[in-house]
Amino acid sequence: MSNKWEEIKELLGQTLNSGVCRVWIEPLRARWADDVLTLVAPNDFVAGNVRARFLSHIAEACETLCSGKVQIEIQVDPSPKSFSSSLTKVTVQRQRERGLPLEHAVVSSPVSPCYQFENFIVGSANEMAYVASQSFSRQNSAHGGGQIFLSSAPGLGKTHLVQAIGNEVFRSSNKSCPRIAYLSAEEFARQMVMAIKGRRIEEFKTRYRENTDVLLLEDIHFFQGKEKMQAELLSTIRYLQQHGRKIVFTSCFLPAEIADLDPHLVSRFCQGFISVIDRPDFETRMRILENKACQVQVQLPVEVQELLAHNLQNDVRQLESCLNNLIAKARLLKEQICTELAWSVLKNYSIEVRPDMEKIVRSVCEIFSVSEEAIRSKSRSKLNVLARNTAFYLARKHTTLSLAEIGKHFNRNHSTVIKGIANVERDVNLKTAEGMRLAQTMERFQL
Ligand code: ADP
Ligand code: MG
Repeated sequence: MSNKWEEIKELLGQTLNSGVCRVWIEPLRARWADDVLTLVAPNDFVAGNVRARFLSHIAEACETLCSGKVQIEIQVDPSPKSFSSSLTKVTVQRQRERGLPLEHAVVSSPVSPCYQFENFIVGSANEMAYVASQSFSRQNSAHGGGQIFLSSAPGLGKTHLVQAIGNEVFRSSNKSCPRIAYLSAEEFARQMVMAIKGRRIEEFKTRYRENTDVLLLEDIHFFQGKEKMQAELLSTIRYLQQHGRKIVFTSCFLPAEIADLDPHLVSRFCQGFISVIDRPDFETRMRILENKACQVQVQLPVEVQELLAHNLQNDVRQLESCLNNLIAKARLLKEQICTELAWSVLKNYSIEVRPDMEKIVRSVCEIFSVSEEAIRSKSRSKLNVLARNTAFYLARKHTTLSLAEIGKHFNRNHSTVIKGIANVERDVNLKTAEGMRLAQTMERFQL
């Protein structure tokens, strides 16, 4: 069997890039015992990454090359601090023979053990989603199934929370193993099409209805405009709801924002708790960085932490990736992590610093050569009005303040703010002389 691992690695080399294989697959040592493949990683970091990112690839390669069932375990050698491997045991059943029931042909526990509630950093932007997800996953299903809809811009933690739910449901169920189906809307649609083609639609239905206790379905906006799939999903949801099963949906959009969606489906999506995750504030970003660095036993100088947290505001995925790149670069160059090194990594990211109200007001005053008192005053001089309207417009563009809150900054009510924004928008859109000048100045001031 020892050559089998070499064959598996060779196959992995064809689907993963060579750098990835060198860093994550090569360091693994394989041990076979009957149908169990134990992969021993040199440390927690490698083991965690392999589990999170490559287990399904390894499982797929096993499925292709081995006959019969193979169970894969990832262990850490020799540290006893490894993650529990119970969640990462994967049973792969060869699906060569036609007619094998669909439900046996999938990886049984696909949620990553890396996504837990414990390592999700909570701040005001995500607190509601966090609390709702946690209580949802601990709720005894005897009290009804329940449903959650998580929505946010990309990279703000939907997948983390939905998988944490999966892990928690699994852990807190003291009786039989709950049947958790975790997949993207796209994968659901793909499996449905394959099932139709293979005349196995009944098996598909059974899998996601009778055989599912918890459905975790990601990125449901994929169903937009796909009528047939929407109909299948609607029937699945109806079944699961009627039978007290749990459902979690995620999407970058709110149900009502998704175009070409059957109103019945919109109504079903809206039935449970809808929670929006916003961009984390500075303090939360600082804690996320601290936590991620700590996980890989790195201590970040506070000025570096502040630099990253200040410059990468909109996407935790980017924040995390920048940190990982910084750590990797420091290790490769055998250098200390410092602000200079951090800048060299940061410049590869699209730094999008959103100006806050203070910066907006300061810049506008500079552009129009007016005082802050003047734009907050009752003055209706042409220059002051233009400056004030520009500030309204920029505040709307860059901050999450409501119209009323923006107005409050300038002692105006919200209908004045709307009028002001509309005037600036018209100038910018019609490219009037005023609008052109404004657009140029905004670019120069990076607004
Ligand atoms: P989404 O699904 O919304 O696009 P993800 O859940 O994939 O975003 O999050 C992107 C990355 O950022 C993941 O590695 C996730 O662990 C991390 N992340 C997001 N929010 C948090 C948070 N509040 N605490 C810790 N990690 C987070
Ligand atoms: Mg996601």
